[in-house]
Amino acid sequence: MTATITSPEKSGESDKRANPATDIFERRESQVRSYCRSWPVVFDRARGAEQVTEDGTTYLDFFSGAGALNYGHNHPVIKGALLDYLAEDNVVHALDMYTPAKRAFLTAFEEKILQPRGMDHKIQLPGPTGTNSVETALKIARKATGRPYIVSFTNAFHGMTLGSLAVTGNSMKREGAGAPLYHSQTAPYDDYFDGATPDFHWLESVWADSGSGVDLPAAVIVETVQGEGGLRAARNEWLRDLSALCRRFEVLLIIDDVQAGCGRTGAFFSFEEAGIEPDIICLSKSLSGMGLPLSVTLLRPELDLWEPAEHNGTFRGFNPAFVTATAALNEFWADDAFENTVRERCAQLTSGLLAIIDEREDASYRGRGLLAGIVFDDLERAEKVAAEAFRRGLLIETSGPSSEVVKVMPPLTVTEEELNHGLTILAEAVRAA
Ligand SMILES: *Cc1c(COP(=O)(O)O)cnc(C)c1O
Repeated sequence: MTATITSPEKSGESDKRANPATDIFERRESQVRSYCRSWPVVFDRARGAEQVTEDGTTYLDFFSGAGALNYGHNHPVIKGALLDYLAEDNVVHALDMYTPAKRAFLTAFEEKILQPRGMDHKIQLPGPTGTNSVETALKIARKATGRPYIVSFTNAFHGMTLGSLAVTGNSMKREGAGAPLYHSQTAPYDDYFDGATPDFHWLESVWADSGSGVDLPAAVIVETVQGEGGLRAARNEWLRDLSALCRRFEVLLIIDDVQAGCGRTGAFFSFEEAGIEPDIICLSKSLSGMGLPLSVTLLRPELDLWEPAEHNGTFRGFNPAFVTATAALNEFWADDAFENTVRERCAQLTSGLLAIIDEREDASYRGRGLLAGIVFDDLERAEKVAAEAFRRGLLIETSGPSSEVVKVMPPLTVTEEELNHGLTILAEAVRAA
């Protein structure tokens, strides 16, 4: 039997003259590529909130590497630390061996992040991506409790490997697994039923009822703001009630702070305002400070139950990323000056978005802090807004199962002027779409 595979690359494009600047990507790179389809230019240089193409066009970047560039592109202090490190022939690859770079990172993370918040979590260094951190969290939760199930929430996004996909909502991404996604249960996220049922009505009922047929899970995994799934933000009281419910039933609470963490909502951790103490925390994206791959999984000490090498990986703890992460922690998190400035930018973005929404009947606000956006009644409008923004020199992406939310994610280091400029472009793009 011969399978017929039609390639979107070939249909209708055959008579188009290839653009030499992009031909190799379109011809040779897998069609799985996506962001470059919305922004089919070749980015060459970048600094702060700006990216410049190889033919010299400057874009204001309110995409921030999907959350990996909270301190902007090529921050001079962070980049300087990296250049110095490489210039001295310091160790680049070390698996989990001891290096001065790892010592400095663990010390900075302990002193700048954990101790001031009264946290005694152990720091596990899994593979370098967000999904590596999530897989680690799920695995240790199962090992610690002996229970196989994990509860996640509607519209959650936790990554693309099988364990993380099993706790991810998006049906297109789930189908991409091509295999059954096991041992996960989905519960309604905050306000999923528009307040029609009391919060946690279902979870509380089935966990308390030994006849419910629903096994008690190892853990609940949750994002405080759903970065990919549509920018819904959980209320602090919802997070507190979830945390209390987990404690009551001895279910572990995992906060996936891969996108909302590292200052995105103001505080270093997105759950700080809710005053909760998660058992396990996943961090990645902006942890390295300049887009190098690095992730950690933070574990309450009694959960650090691994045998040596029981969870492994070649790229655990990439030393250049330790160096940049340490520079970022020392530069931005030694006191609360940076956090206070970020909070001003958060307020500025919120009021700017509300002003755009005020002009129309068909739009509303989603998100929290500098992870916020606009949802439109017409599910197709957000994509059009992002395209209009790109034509005007602004990079913004969309979020949600139907890409129905315009997602505005400037670097935390964005200036007041840059943020105003971006909001002006966004307002024009919304009117034009
Ligand atoms: C991006 C993201 C992940 C996955 O991170 P990768 O580095 O892409 O594997 C997991 N959780 C959340 C909340 C994310 O935003």
